[in-house]
Amino acid sequence: MVCIIGITSSFNEGNSQHHVADPYVTAVYQAGGLPFLLPSLDPTQVEDVYAACDGFLFSGGVDVDPYYFGEEPQQGLGEIDPQRDAFEIALARLVLQGRKPALAICRGIQVVNIAAGGSIYQDITTITSLCHSQQAPRYHGSHTVEIAEDSRLYQILKNKDIRVNSFHHQAVNLVGKGLKACGWSKDGLIEAVEIQHKEQWILGVQWHPECCYAIDSSAHKLFQSFIREVKSRKER
Ligand code: MN
Repeated sequence: MVCIIGITSSFNEGNSQHHVADPYVTAVYQAGGLPFLLPSLDPTQVEDVYAACDGFLFSGGVDVDPYYFGEEPQQGLGEIDPQRDAFEIALARLVLQGRKPALAICRGIQVVNIAAGGSIYQDITTITSLCHSQQAPRYHGSHTVEIAEDSRLYQILKNKDIRVNSFHHQAVNLVGKGLKACGWSKDGLIEAVEIQHKEQWILGVQWHPECCYAIDSSAHKLFQSFIREVKSRKER
């Protein structure tokens, strides 16, 4: 069965091109999904985009405008993409109301959490000394994430402690409505959230499983579970 996975993208003003890093596309494809790249269209288009896809991958990228969680910009906030923010927040709100599965990675977990009414730390470098911006290769797991045993994430990974890569300077602060934290780094920061409703499948991770899909069993299980869920829902 063909399952269309919409992957959100970034936009480069400089060369006027939409971008998705290849590992997202490759991981979705190798796990059995058909990757479709979603440009950051006008938010009035999100209902059509939602209807056209079977599942969604919210990909990594630049910072989210703190306006969306009711804060003024603080020192340490990075680059903002207003069009992408508007499109992804609108799409994430539909996903949170609907029944189509979504995997949200890095910026993605932040977008979904903000769309659910939560907030993020604009710059974690001021609140933790643990290194979340690794200098190691992207496939390398540089810090530990502890997984809650009563979570769906634990059912997928069957592991309480995993090693993950880390390339972020923001993190989930207040958890959005309907979501719950299910993974933490050793400094107590939230590294994974999931939807509480049993009829939905929405999972956010702060790390980048797409970068180690081929070599890391946890990353492999995440994408396999995501695509399996999309297929089983489409069959029903
Ligand atoms: Mn991290």
